[in-house]
Amino acid sequence: MPMTPEDSQVMDVLQGGRCFYCGQPIGAKATFDHVIPQAYGGADEPSNIVLTHRRCNQDKLDRLPSWEELERFIEQRRRSRLGIWPPIRALYDADPDEDEWIVVARAIADLRR
Ligand SMILES: [Zn+2]
Repeated sequence: MPMTPEDSQVMDVLQGGRCFYCGQPIGAKATFDHVIPQAYGGADEPSNIVLTHRRCNQDKLDRLPSWEELERFIEQRRRSRLGIWPPIRALYDADPDEDEWIVVARAIADLRR
């Protein structure tokens, strides 16, 4: 399900009007960033998207989220209809000794089962 303008508004409220990555006020020029990058198979839907500055979005590029970012995302979404894309939760719950990209790939495969 793609992003709607209403989803974007709900996201802005959840994030307190701030960029997900740097925490500074975001204003009207927000961009959408995929928490699990599309390069890893990340879904293009609200449950995998945050609002960021364009610059912060570019700085993140195609890396997977840090543990702190996962924790922040899950906390923000816990009671939101926007939801948490299941592979994000799988990454958060994963054994830290496991390769992150494998955890993500397995969680995405589970979704398609
Ligand atoms: Zn920022």
